[in-house]
Amino acid sequence: MIHIDASQGEGGGQVLRTSLALSMVTGQPVLLDKIRARRPKPGLMRQHLTCVTAAQAISGAQVDGATLGSQTLQFTPGPVRGGEHRFSIGTAGSVMLVLQTVWPALLLADAPTRLTLQGGTHNPMAPSFHFIERAYAPLVRRLGAASALRLRRCGFYPGGGGEIEAELHPAGAAGLQPFDLIERGAWLGQQPECLIPGLKRSIAERELEVLHEQLGWAFDHTAIPVMRQNEGPGNALLATLRHEHVTEVFCSLGEKTRSAESVAKDVARQVKHYLGSTAALGTYLADQWVLPLALAVWRSGRAARYTCTDVSLHAATNFSVIGQFLPVRIDTRPLPKGQGVQVEVAPTGDNAP
Ligand code: ATP
Repeated sequence: MIHIDASQGEGGGQVLRTSLALSMVTGQPVLLDKIRARRPKPGLMRQHLTCVTAAQAISGAQVDGATLGSQTLQFTPGPVRGGEHRFSIGTAGSVMLVLQTVWPALLLADAPTRLTLQGGTHNPMAPSFHFIERAYAPLVRRLGAASALRLRRCGFYPGGGGEIEAELHPAGAAGLQPFDLIERGAWLGQQPECLIPGLKRSIAERELEVLHEQLGWAFDHTAIPVMRQNEGPGNALLATLRHEHVTEVFCSLGEKTRSAESVAKDVARQVKHYLGSTAALGTYLADQWVLPLALAVWRSGRAARYTCTDVSLHAATNFSVIGQFLPVRIDTRPLPKGQGVQVEVAPTGDNAP
């Protein structure tokens, strides 16, 4: 049984999700305590509980402590099973975080999986659907596991009601193959867009206009923002930056009390931060990419590296939790100014998969 102090490092829900994912992947039972202990509402929230329920369903786990507000959880997984699964958060909690909890284990499952997830698709402090579909999923595919993601309906706080479908295949015959991601490669272009289901089109126009101004991009007034029907209300402003080896997606969400200018400036700030460095991955992708990569390093016995603009406390916490489950070493090395940080994930050779 692995014992995880869930208040370590950043101490958020990510410690729980990474622990569930790697418990299923390795078949090792885990006991978590002090779950989200330092958060204003500590313990398991609805969104975290759905991650536990989803992990339990795909691995037939025995679970103790899966109640709202619980700060302790014991999780003993069985074999991971692909197939049809459907999970509903019941609030606007992020379905993308539920997907990321179960996906690593499904990479090693006995069959493909079709997942339907209901809840929030564009949430504060979580990857958006577009981030997972355009930035994260293509990298997982390069490891050797096919997938297709569909956005059925957008879901925003507080209404939720979003739905995604994910078709996730286990790694092919060659298994998961790690690769280096040091450079972005050639610039392929930017794609600014605005989701505003149920809201006035003028909001999207204002946000896009300010975003373009802030970034010195030419604004095409005839470009129509993505409009969607029968969903929302909600507002997400997105900037997708495509390079040959990596796509990044930056997102900010509108709220009643927040001006269109502030939403646009937030996305512009994230884009400038990324473009101010030559590193391959931005802050968020850097903390998320490490888990599937570590899995591939462990399974193949081969090391791999990536560069990122910075290593957040979130990322450092994830590195530490991964090291408690998998026989891998994760080292970081600052690069010369403007080049970010290099992360290397290497097998320790302690334990064959
Ligand atoms: P908490 O326990 O703090 O309430 P939580 O369970 O919602 O948190 P965190 O531990 O904060 O989750 O993890 C959030 C995850 O969402 C991290 O993996 C982070 O990289 C990701 N994330 C946050 N914001 C973005 C963003 N704008 N784009 C992509 N990913 C994001």
